[in-house]
Amino acid sequence: MHLYIHIPFCKQACHYCDFHFSTNTTQKRAMAEAIAREIVLRKSYLPDGDMETIYFGGGTPSMLDEAELHLLLDTVHRHFRVAPGAEITLEANPDDLNAASLSMFARAGINRLSIGIQSFHEPHLRFMNRAHTALEAKQCVKIAQNAGIDNISIDLIYAIPSENHDILHADLAQAFALNVPHISAYCLTIEPQTAFGSWLKKKKIKPIEEEYAAQQFEMLVGSLCGEGYEQYEISNFARNGRYSRHNSSYWKQHPYLGVGPSAHSYNGTTREFNVSHNAKYLDALQKGIIPATVETLTGADNTNEYLLTGLRTIWGVDLQKLHELSNGAFAAQHRRQLDGMIRKGWVREDSGTLRLTEAGKLFADRISSDLFID
Ligand code: SF4
Repeated sequence: MHLYIHIPFCKQACHYCDFHFSTNTTQKRAMAEAIAREIVLRKSYLPDGDMETIYFGGGTPSMLDEAELHLLLDTVHRHFRVAPGAEITLEANPDDLNAASLSMFARAGINRLSIGIQSFHEPHLRFMNRAHTALEAKQCVKIAQNAGIDNISIDLIYAIPSENHDILHADLAQAFALNVPHISAYCLTIEPQTAFGSWLKKKKIKPIEEEYAAQQFEMLVGSLCGEGYEQYEISNFARNGRYSRHNSSYWKQHPYLGVGPSAHSYNGTTREFNVSHNAKYLDALQKGIIPATVETLTGADNTNEYLLTGLRTIWGVDLQKLHELSNGAFAAQHRRQLDGMIRKGWVREDSGTLRLTEAGKLFADRISSDLFID
């Protein structure tokens, strides 16, 4: 079993971000109390079993103070069996990390950090409106390692507009010098409901060129693999098998509970979506109501979800499982199309498992959606 806890606050809005958060933090303590209430109300959502991973995401969970973090983790421990050795991850921004906060996180039981570095290049950080400096980005990993947390992932963003690839090269060299076991690398995308989205509409910025993004992706994958990182999911790279156990559970369709505004949950038969609005969430939880929309999943939903997430991973997609989930519809609708993709060299089939080739990884989402069943 897996638990996601969404902390919907940030110091400032990054220009590219369309996650759910508020920069008004006056309700932060009330929010922690409401999420604790939701954890209690939701304790029967998942099948019985130990909680193997807990993930604080956001927003910016490193803005939680000690009392808020303890309230949430104590509530989890009181109402679930947390497995010995459970992976407990906290997403953190570099400007929140110092010796005091890191030792507080370690005392609370956080044993993995996912640090939103994004870039070590000051002008790129300013362009994206990140709250931290390049110096903080460089120093925070060492401070975390000194505090005894060595299971660290850093996030990087590529395809940030630039004249050439030198800045990405420098970002990668800096990342390798930090010697972290896990790196996530995401393409800069311009979403409509963001500052970048509105600037694009007003022609203040140009769209990200596909060719440039593809060149940066290929360069990044080559560099990371050359440094001993395994691309176990299109955007995720790990050394020595130190995969994100939490995120891997999503990609393998394991049941999980998500609490907090905008969090999703999945138990194999339904998917639930919490309201993406802090005041509405707080108000509902005060009345003992979980403000969620429930969707009952069909065979097609489960098949398409499995294709979308599974094809992006080294584990790939098992054809027999696709057959069972889709009740035979996958082969009936797409066998010929799949054979065409195999001939083009985008997908390969090994002993009943489909995996993307290096060429296929460049347009993974398109391949999956072309294979979706009705
Ligand atoms: S800190 Fe993270 S969640 Fe907050 S605005 Fe920036 S990218 Fe989005």
